Amino acid sequence: MDELETPGALKDPPEASPPGVIASRLDAAIGWARKYSIFQYPFVTACCGMEFMSTAGSHYDLDRFGAGFPRFSPRQADVLMVVGTVSHKISPILKRIYEQMAEPKWVVAFGVCTCTGGFYDDYATVQGIDTIIPVDLYIPGCPPRPENVLQGLMLLQEKIQKQGNRPTPGTLRPPLR
Ligand code: SF4
Repeated sequence: MDELETPGALKDPPEASPPGVIASRLDAAIGWARKYSIFQYPFVTACCGMEFMSTAGSHYDLDRFGAGFPRFSPRQADVLMVVGTVSHKISPILKRIYEQMAEPKWVVAFGVCTCTGGFYDDYATVQGIDTIIPVDLYIPGCPPRPENVLQGLMLLQEKIQKQGNRPTPGTLRPPLR
């Protein structure tokens, strides 16, 4: 007879659930819901805007990704889509819009001008919006093709899913100047 079956013998306690299972499932569910309910704020300043509009049109169907509805109030948006050249003159407005968005929030640099300043290597143009606000995703191209934008959107969704309900890591966000 097995020792555990001896009358009066102490049995091992039932195996406890791995810690954090419920919390991590909830985290994954929140990440999943967030990645399919993107509300983008289009900050459009220049020619990249045409490509942005063509991507947002019915042919490419952003609704498939749950990102079909732009919001024109920063308080209702969670993805700031910066599209086109950003001059130093307009940069305080971009920074204010970013600050008005509630957490969690993500920033996309759309087109090479927003990523690096592009070929506008001059005193008037911001040489990459990440010198003003933190950027989560860079989509290069002059302008980027809609396929590039869709690929970028899917990468952003992956990032949102992985973040789940956790706050945006402060270490990844340089202090605003
Ligand atoms: S990346 Fe090219 S298309 Fe886009 S704003 Fe700059 S110059 Fe215009």
